[in-house]
Amino acid sequence: MSECIFCRIAAGEIPADIVANDDEFIAFRDLHPLAPTHVLVVPKRHLRSLDEIEAFGDAAAGRMLRFTAAAARSAGIATSGYRVVSNTGPDAGQEVDHLHWHIIGGGPLGGMV
Ligand code: AMP
Ligand code: ZN
Repeated sequence: MSECIFCRIAAGEIPADIVANDDEFIAFRDLHPLAPTHVLVVPKRHLRSLDEIEAFGDAAAGRMLRFTAAAARSAGIATSGYRVVSNTGPDAGQEVDHLHWHIIGGGPLGGMV
């Protein structure tokens, strides 16, 4: 059994509030939301962070972006707007060492970026 929490969610071993799901990716609500809508997009293949994206391949990376836009639509924030963030490494405060995007929205987000 994997010790990676996102691998375990992807495998269905840990429950999550799932927004979108296919063979390659899963999107689920963050346990500690930082915005009215806060969804995480996770590839089912384990990669440590965005810094390993080359190992993923261009086609899979493209499908992850397409899946992210679809997940935002499923969460109902595509029209009102949203932000996509990937914490990568220590200075970004990455806590879970499995590549993921945060999708945040559901209200004005301010000028963080
Ligand atoms: P990061 O700092 O980018 O690594 O963020 C990891 C995110 O995963 C945090 O926002 C956590 O709240 C979230 N998280 C950790 N465990 C879970 C879980 N079991 N279900 C949903 N979200 C989680
Ligand atoms: Zn993992």
